[in-house]
Amino acid sequence: MPGRTSHHRFTTRADGDLAVGAVGVAGRRSALVDLPWTWLDQVHGADVVTVTRPGEHAGAAADAAVTAVPGAVVAVQAADCAPVVLLAEGAVGVVHAGWRGLVAGVLPAAVGAMRALGADRVQGLLGPCIHAGCYEFGEADLAEVATGLGAAVVGRTASGAPGMDVPAAVRACLAGVDVSLDTSSSTCTACRPDALWSHRARADSGRQAALAWLT
Ligand SMILES: [Zn+2]
Repeated sequence: MPGRTSHHRFTTRADGDLAVGAVGVAGRRSALVDLPWTWLDQVHGADVVTVTRPGEHAGAAADAAVTAVPGAVVAVQAADCAPVVLLAEGAVGVVHAGWRGLVAGVLPAAVGAMRALGADRVQGLLGPCIHAGCYEFGEADLAEVATGLGAAVVGRTASGAPGMDVPAAVRACLAGVDVSLDTSSSTCTACRPDALWSHRARADSGRQAALAWLT
């Protein structure tokens, strides 16, 4: 779609708590981008909503949203799970991907929904999420996840225990559908209490968001 510009943003604690149901969250959303938002009631599954008018499907039980409509913000919230932005000519998407969603196939599902909107060259961007060094995982559980997602997900924590490598898992899932991943915005949520919320490391209830929209 010539003439359309894609925008995206990964928020930090400085932007305020964007958790669904947080007091004052509606005002913080419009302060960030003053357009109708489609935020999601995330369930760690693989369902994707396609937004055909601004604000459509707000509050839907899903873990990804895509749109080709200008003026519609699509957003996911996370505090260790991976927030992923998908960008293409004339379409944008966001994905909430924890290990269960990754295994369920939420990333290929979201890329498929982008392609159904006519997007051919899709690019992925990874936001802040927990990294292997801080994400201890049971050895048997990790082996099971690796069966579905590949050996790249097997990492080590800083103390040498088995750790799940979420950025590597996101990369592998996207590579499987011919999408490359930029990880330069992905700092570790657990390592940065000054800037980011972490559910695992600090039991934080706050959430940062990933948002994308077209104008
Ligand atoms: Zn860390």
